[in-house]
Amino acid sequence: MNFHDSEKVAGSLVSQGYRQVRTVEEADLIFYNTCSIRDKAEQKVFHRLSDFKALQKQGKKFAVIGCVAQQEGERIFERAPHVSLVAGSASYRNLPEMLVQIGRGERATGLDDRNTEETFETEFTARTNPHRGYITIIEGCDKFCAYCVVPYTRGRERSRTSESVLEEARRIADSGLTEIQLLGQNVNSYLDPMGKRSFAELLAEVGQVKGIRRVRFTTSHPRHFSRDIVEAIDSVPTLCDHVHLPVQSGSSRVLDAMAREYTREQYLERVSWIRATKNRTISMTTDVIVGFPGETLAEFEETMTLLEEVQFDGIFSFKYSPRPNTPALTMENAISEDEKTRRLAVLNERQREIQRANYHRHVGQVMEAMVEGFQPARNQVSGRTSQNKPLNFTIPCGAEIPKIGRYVQVRVTKSHPNSLVGELCPDGEAVPSAACTIA
Ligand code: SAM
Ligand code: SF4
Repeated sequence: MNFHDSEKVAGSLVSQGYRQVRTVEEADLIFYNTCSIRDKAEQKVFHRLSDFKALQKQGKKFAVIGCVAQQEGERIFERAPHVSLVAGSASYRNLPEMLVQIGRGERATGLDDRNTEETFETEFTARTNPHRGYITIIEGCDKFCAYCVVPYTRGRERSRTSESVLEEARRIADSGLTEIQLLGQNVNSYLDPMGKRSFAELLAEVGQVKGIRRVRFTTSHPRHFSRDIVEAIDSVPTLCDHVHLPVQSGSSRVLDAMAREYTREQYLERVSWIRATKNRTISMTTDVIVGFPGETLAEFEETMTLLEEVQFDGIFSFKYSPRPNTPALTMENAISEDEKTRRLAVLNERQREIQRANYHRHVGQVMEAMVEGFQPARNQVSGRTSQNKPLNFTIPCGAEIPKIGRYVQVRVTKSHPNSLVGELCPDGEAVPSAACTIA
């Protein structure tokens, strides 16, 4: 999301007449976008800002945006007096006025907009991903999970109209990109302000925009993950065979303490919907936190058995990291750093074995890959399957290297726990799926 926020901020400023440059040295104004989801994010930011200090003598100005900006607010000016602008994501739409302010030699802040109902609409996005267009459909978060800073830094949930999302999807298709990723902290809390479409309906319609061949979405919250999303994936061929559904813990007691508002059983029920599709095999990935305050060994073991039961194709695993302002910060029975590290290693080791077996099942299959790049040192093209699995492949001697964004058919010859290896099929150009011709 931060990556795409940067694209939107850059795009909206370019449309105001600013020019984007490639290096800090070339810039007059430097934007530093920050994340505070884990670790000692603030310390890293202040470290980096002190590196920038020397550049102030050259007349450069500095803006700090994102979650650390929102969290630390005007304290940033105290600790890094060379900074002129501090703004959280809920205030990005006001950046042009703030820049006028700093042009006058004043300081500018955008920290008080978290209760806004407005979203950051911009027609101009400086898209830097050569094969995928991102679209934010919902900003902020109202869930207040006990460990998470996001509701405090990104403000309340607010959705864009489905019309505006579809318009952006058409613009992306017109620009020649064929893959779209819908973004939000909880995409399935999406609520069309005009009441026209549910999230599943919007997803299906984005998948039917002429020229779009792949649609992804992230992140889904299990509490609002409904069956119609699975039905949409099963019936619209352009919707990718992948659902990222963060579970966080396999223990209902820990989930309750985290304020996730679903149980292990309810999570597994959603998994059973995803596994019951008629036309597609949907790959599942998740997020897991180990060492939440009070997590017993038996509760950690429940997370391990959940991994066994679901057989995820990938996990993002984290040691619980205490964050400012969150309820979990003052919870009793904190788990030691060493024990968190141990649990994380045990979890990752088990998951690696699960993935080794899952990825191995693809050996011998022919899969469609979208080309994402070329690694000359390995003479290998890097691609990605609809299930979001990296598929790197060789091409016949003397054959043309397929361009980024092309779809090709690849025979899988080998697997690793995190990627597949294959060979481009003869006449490997993939045929557009039927859905691509729906207007
Ligand atoms: N909205 C998504 C959801 O509810 O699943 C998650 C968004 S969050 C930016 C991404 C992931 O960071 C979470 O799923 C969680 O696993 C992890 N995370 C958030 N806060 C954390 C914390 N304090 N310590 C460790 N991991 C954390
Ligand atoms: Fe954070 Fe929970 Fe909101 Fe996800 S749903 S962003 S974990 S508060």
